[in-house]
Amino acid sequence: MSAGEFKTVIGLEIHVQLDTDSKMFCRCRSEFGAMPNSNVCPVCLGHPGALPTVNRRAVDLAIRFGLACDGEIQRRSEWARKNYFYPDLPKGYQITQYRHPICLGGRISLASHSETREIPLTRMHLEEDAGKLIHHNTGGAKYTAVDLNRCGTPLLEVVTPAVIASPQEAREFLLVLKQLLQYAGISACNMEKGELRVDANLSLSPAGSRTFGVKTEIKNLNSFRAVTRALKAERKRQQALLQSGNPVTQVTLLWDERAGQLQIMRHKEGSADYRYLPEPDLPDLIITDDQIARQREAMPELPAAKRSRLIYQYGIREYDAMVLTAIPDLADFFEAVAAQVTTPQQAASFISTKLLHLINTRGLGVIGMPLTAEALAELINQLSIGRVSAAMGQPILEAMWESGETAAAIIKRQDCRLIDDELQLLNWIQQTIAAEPEKVADYRRGRENLLNYFIGQLMARAKGRADPRRMKSLLIEALGRDIESED
Ligand code: ZN
Ligand code: MN
Repeated sequence: MSAGEFKTVIGLEIHVQLDTDSKMFCRCRSEFGAMPNSNVCPVCLGHPGALPTVNRRAVDLAIRFGLACDGEIQRRSEWARKNYFYPDLPKGYQITQYRHPICLGGRISLASHSETREIPLTRMHLEEDAGKLIHHNTGGAKYTAVDLNRCGTPLLEVVTPAVIASPQEAREFLLVLKQLLQYAGISACNMEKGELRVDANLSLSPAGSRTFGVKTEIKNLNSFRAVTRALKAERKRQQALLQSGNPVTQVTLLWDERAGQLQIMRHKEGSADYRYLPEPDLPDLIITDDQIARQREAMPELPAAKRSRLIYQYGIREYDAMVLTAIPDLADFFEAVAAQVTTPQQAASFISTKLLHLINTRGLGVIGMPLTAEALAELINQLSIGRVSAAMGQPILEAMWESGETAAAIIKRQDCRLIDDELQLLNWIQQTIAAEPEKVADYRRGRENLLNYFIGQLMARAKGRADPRRMKSLLIEALGRDIESED
């Protein structure tokens, strides 16, 4: 049986840490990186008699995200206790939502160049996080420490049905989800800090079959790379089992990113094992029309709307709009630049290629970069009026980034103005033609696309400073003259 004879179905559960100052059911701070066990109180430690109160902002953020995904906000939802024992869960249960979550349904659109695919959502619910176990293994001493600061941190869990067709599609879904969470102001989604964690389930069934195969679950994936790699490994493992006639058993797996391997963690519990019970310390969560209306009003412009607006307002290409809106800060930066230039499309391509490359390689982020919108706009304007060639854009940008000088100052100091002096240009053209006799002959025989090759050679000779229009016409003329003189 070949791999193609199985159909893959993937479902995801994503835990998102909500952007609140305090915890879900108490007033402890929910900051990251504080001294271990310094942000705790009787409520989040589960002391007897301590009563939880619901964090209003966490509820508001859940409403806002439900709306952003076109879900149905439930006017009445219910808190539940999910019982299990674990050293980082001092209460012995987690407060979550089970039978009646805060949001049902909704969808996420995956837009690619050719088609738009909608991934439906099953539900979203609010819950609290557990603490953290830190395993030490130093100098032969092996022990585990418990940090309860994270206990009670507000989480929004987003659940999809098993409809995702491949590990690549799962990754694409997560990228769009993360972008939407960031735009809507729900979470910073900093994955290194565990603010977005993914549980993924996968099953294979013979192609054409209408029944689902047995699914397995991979827990706590905290990078997109880990999600794709783990799902690919699990697909392969299940395929091998099925091909050799063995059944897939329902297990929970852990992904070891460093070893690139899956480990079986435990045999999967059913929901009955958690003995979900209604939470007796909290009344039902009631949401009013007014609360929903306020979140609709507070909704920032979302990625799809922003993309359409950028295309319409600035006349930029769809591809550039996609790249620019992938990072909210980058789109804002583009708009600040676009307001000060005469050629917004040129600014869009420059930012989405050259500047983005620099941001990515220097690892500073858009906010931290040492470059203002005014400074970049000046460079774009110099490029658009032909004061400097496109080839000089990158080195000038890098010099601005390093020195903090203006584009004009660098252009003046480095003398990178375009050379349109005819004698100098003809000199470079002659050298290029003399160095490439065979290619010149090919060009004369009709391989006209070699023209771009000659232009590249010329630009290299001119170190990017030749005026491209002047040079091109002189080059064509020179090559043509040679043909005529031969005839
Ligand atoms: Zn607390
Ligand atoms: Mn959960």
